[in-house]
Amino acid sequence: MERLQKILAGAGVASRRKCEELIQSGRVQVNGETVTELGTKADPAADVITVDGKTVGAQKKMYIVFNKPKGVITSASDPQGRKIVTDYLKGINERLYPVGRLDYDTEGLLLLTNDGEFAHLLTHPKHHVAKTYLATVKGVPHGTALDKLKNGIMLEDGMTAPAEVEYYDIDPEEKHATISITIYEGRNRQVRRMFEAIQHPVTKLKRISFGDLYLGNLKRGLYRHLTKEEVEGLI
Ligand code: URA
Repeated sequence: MERLQKILAGAGVASRRKCEELIQSGRVQVNGETVTELGTKADPAADVITVDGKTVGAQKKMYIVFNKPKGVITSASDPQGRKIVTDYLKGINERLYPVGRLDYDTEGLLLLTNDGEFAHLLTHPKHHVAKTYLATVKGVPHGTALDKLKNGIMLEDGMTAPAEVEYYDIDPEEKHATISITIYEGRNRQVRRMFEAIQHPVTKLKRISFGDLYLGNLKRGLYRHLTKEEVEGLI
């Protein structure tokens, strides 16, 4: 048995002092009972300890795939009060972290997990996970312009690695086109910057796959848990 504030601080919730405040303000529960006494002890291996309803400590690993709508921030909070991904994860009491990011205006496949090692592995530049996007762009790029994206194009932060690029749909009036692009890097706003570099700015961007995982028919704004096989297939 250990003092609750020690368990909370040890699990990385906050500093010991801040954890004492959390307890005193009634935000901590042990096995469903709110505890406000600072001397209270608990067994970190056997008791279920929660802060604001979220489980602390030895957690079950959780992996979900979410179809992020556009106009949603990929982070745990937003000072400007915009919608955040976790607003959509009703029924999940774990603290989940996004594996990489999608821009505010990008929609589609976003992985979330509480497995830090898994997230680190998949976002490490050396891992080269394939990410496929459907990019709707202004105008219809020529094949030669798409070849530049395929071979690598110079951006502010250096040359891009080779990518797979194909026409997906062309508007009959040729006002816009949708291009399928697979990249193996994850630089900030990379796909948008690649198309800007060939003078065909992106008007809509959707990620449809990440490694072996596909968005499939998962509806916008909804999530599902990955199967064990899907998790193993990613690492
Ligand atoms: N590339 C972008 O430009 N935006 C994203 O959200 C993801 C990839």
